[in-house]
Amino acid sequence: MTIRLAAPLQRDSIVDGDGLRTVLWTQGCLLKCLGCHNPRTHALDGGFERDVELVKMELRQHRRQRGLTLSGGEPFLQIAACADIARYARRQLSWDIWCYTGFTHEQLLADTCFAPLLAEIDVLVDGPFILAERDPRLPFRGSRNQRILRLR
Ligand code: SF4
Repeated sequence: MTIRLAAPLQRDSIVDGDGLRTVLWTQGCLLKCLGCHNPRTHALDGGFERDVELVKMELRQHRRQRGLTLSGGEPFLQIAACADIARYARRQLSWDIWCYTGFTHEQLLADTCFAPLLAEIDVLVDGPFILAERDPRLPFRGSRNQRILRLR
């Protein structure tokens, strides 16, 4: 199985969730929020493909990380690959999992196709970026409508 990524794995981030984290930048997002901080991640055929097993191998080499953050792009457009990687990080590395999504939690709960990835997430940062709600003082999110939801 492969995953389409926007960038190489980023380690040692302190702005994408609690503690020192590795970030998986997924490629592809259909929302195109006005003012999106990362528009180059929108194209579904952009970025590059990477084998999921190679991503796991790379994660194993990242030391002193507290967790994995799925960001993008939209991780819920690549449910199987993201769920597989998140499950590995949780079970084999004992990392916690944060996930940024343009969907609301309610939208994700309403469709069972999202369930395999939702089940692997500890903290969900949900909702689209809304420029009129932007607040740079907010920790770990860009606009006031977005919520930091602890799911487990
Ligand atoms: S959901 Fe995120 S990546 Fe997608 S357009 Fe909105 S801010 Fe950008």
